[in-house]
Formats: sequence, C-alpha cells, structure tokens
Amino acid sequence: MLKLEKYSFGIGDRFTKQGRAQLEALLKANEAGIPFVPVWNKSYREHQIVKSSPSDTWNEATEATRSMNYSGNWYVDADHINLSNVDDFIEHSNFFTLDVADYIGQAADQKEMDDMLKKLSVFSGELTIPGIEDSFQITKSDLEQIVLKFYNAIKEAALIYQHIYSKKGDKFIAEVSMDEVDEAQTPIELFFILAMIDHFDIPAQTIAPKFTGRFNKGVDYVGDTENFRIEFEQDLLVIDHAVNCFGLPENLKLSVHSGSDKFSIYPIIGELIQKHDKGIHIKTAGTTWLEEVIGLALAGGEALDTAKEIYEKAFDRKAELCAPYATVIDIDVDHLPLPEDVNKWSSEKFVNTLRHIPDHPDYDKGFRQLIHVGYKIAAEMGGRYLDQLEVNKEIVGAEVSKNILERHVGRLFG
Ligand SMILES: [Zn+2]
Repeated sequence: MLKLEKYSFGIGDRFTKQGRAQLEALLKANEAGIPFVPVWNKSYREHQIVKSSPSDTWNEATEATRSMNYSGNWYVDADHINLSNVDDFIEHSNFFTLDVADYIGQAADQKEMDDMLKKLSVFSGELTIPGIEDSFQITKSDLEQIVLKFYNAIKEAALIYQHIYSKKGDKFIAEVSMDEVDEAQTPIELFFILAMIDHFDIPAQTIAPKFTGRFNKGVDYVGDTENFRIEFEQDLLVIDHAVNCFGLPENLKLSVHSGSDKFSIYPIIGELIQKHDKGIHIKTAGTTWLEEVIGLALAGGEALDTAKEIYEKAFDRKAELCAPYATVIDIDVDHLPLPEDVNKWSSEKFVNTLRHIPDHPDYDKGFRQLIHVGYKIAAEMGGRYLDQLEVNKEIVGAEVSKNILERHVGRLFG
C-alpha cells in the first residue's frame, strides 16, 4: 500500500483552475513547519454536476505539482465512490474514499452477522479504552445493534476495496466514509466499526465518521463545541486502541469531511491531534469554489455581473440545487436576499456578504450556502464563466490561497 502522511489536506475545485493557488497555500504551510501533503478530492457527484472527469483532476494536480517543482507526495482522491461508479476513477486516482453511508442499517446474511457477533462478544462486559477515564459497559444487545447497523456497510466497503485492488494492486490509499448520514456514530460504535474493518482486511488509513453536530458545507460548525471536543478526543483514543487490538495500519487517522470553514472547531482539532500526536485529514473543496466567486466579485465589472448572475439563477433553482446536498446544508430560504437587491450591490457588499468572516455585519451564511451549491450554474455558463476566471486569475488565485492558508491551516495550527 502507499502510505499516507500524518497531515494531509483535501483540496480541490470544481473547475480545475485553482490547482496552483491551492498548492501554493500548502507549500507556505510547509515552509512554516506544517507538513500537509495535498490530496485533490472530487466526488462522483461533483463530476456529474460539472461534467468533468477524473482525468481532469489528475491533470490539474500533475500540472500544479510540476509547474511549482513540488517534490513531495500528492494524491488524487476518488471521493465518495461506490461500486456503481468507481471504475471511472481507477486509472486517475491513488486515494479512494469508499462511501458506505447508504448501507448503514441494511440487514445482511443472518449467519454472517451471527458469526460477527460471536467474534465481537469477547468485548462484552466492561470495555476500557486507554486514556478514557470512564470504562464502557457493552451488553450483548449493544453488540447486536452495532452489527445490525454496520456489518453490511463494512462488508460493502470490503467489496469496493477488493474491486479497486483487483484493478490497481496496492498502489492506493483507502478511506472508509460514513459521514453523510443524519445520526453521528459514537466513539464506541467507531471502535466496533474498526473491528469489522479489520475483520474484512481493509487496510484503511483514514476513516470519516459522522461527528456530532452539523457539518454544513462552506460554513462554520453548528453544535456544542464542548461535546465535539469530548467525542473527537475519544475517537482519537479509540483509533489508537483499535490499531493496537486489531493490527490496523498504525497511521490510521480521522478524516473530517465538509471540513472547510469549521472555524470554531479547528483549534480543538489542532490541539487534540497535537496532544495525542495523531494525524489528520481535512477535506475541503467547496470553500475554493466560493473563493472563485469572491475573487470575481472583487474584480468588479463583468466579473461581478457573473457572480450576481450565479446568485440570481441559484436563487430561482434553489430546490433543485440543494437536493443533492440535503444532509450537509441548512438554508433559511425566507431570509435569503432577493436577487433584485443583490443585483444592485457593490463589489464590496457582495464580497462581504459571501466571504466567511463570521462577525462581519454583512456576512450571510444562507447566501454563502446557496452559492456553495450553485456551482452547477457556473458549469452551465461554461466558457463564459471560465473566461472570467482566466481574465481575473491573479485576483482569484490570491483569494483561494489566502483562504486555505490563513482561515483554514492557520486556525488548525494557530
Ligand atoms: Zn463526505
């Protein structure tokens, strides 16, 4: 297997134009002693909406790393794939996020589940996780529930993993994701999920659980940050214990999806991974698309008109655009600014409404989330949108870089 570095940062952008700007931010982080490696992630969903293909992402990463003489490792993540769509990604990816959220709670073969239950029953009774003060009482019924809920999902992850392995051999990194669900997985559930990942011999190096709270796209965390702190720290300790108990890859780490813009929990994540000497993978992508729109709005003139057009069309088609992102956005549609007003806004007003400065009086998280899902509009504009990016590439690229370096990496490792 390829071995993923301790700190990896999921970047990526809808239109493959910000490869260099994103890499530049991580290279500056590297210079400052924060050794993030870049992982260009793009999901099947995004490719479908933009009508791009995995080779475009691969080419973007290749071009960016070559032109900037980047000599470290880099990856292209086939994000949120499953058996029905993974084949398109095989050739042009070296990182695969096996998304099994849809398989959670589906019953599997009873005999197989009974065998799994028998195997896990050694953990019934008092379970102690080193580093967690209180022990956990695990009943037979807890284990039955966990097997019923997760066995089929992990079995599916194994099928996807084996399929990729049969095509690529060991030249890739595997992540298991189950974040796009409503209900968070508890640290104890995570422990048994990892037991099953080991049972099926999936050498996962990252795991993306659903954490407590809302991880809405492009905006800050919504939830109780103290609860998040407790859960996140327990997850770190659970992973450590699972690695020791089951012989999973020793670099196994948490992956935070919809990881962009989670300003209120970055300091917590940064503090805890350093306290426990753990790695992290943070996935962002939508935030870079938003910086493109900010850059265009900043540029003014025709570029500002393009940004306004995206909003107006997104406003008219909000139901359609929001549907694929139902579990990861929260827009109060009654409070969205009306396009007829937005069309009169200055460059400054548009930028301040969109840019993620939480305490700025103009900042509007509904506006920001709607533009987040509005990239389909830009995709439909095609060359007209891409031309604006090209004409304004300096100003857009500067926003993209600054956002990743200062608002993201800077807050994680303050
Ligand atoms: Zn995700």
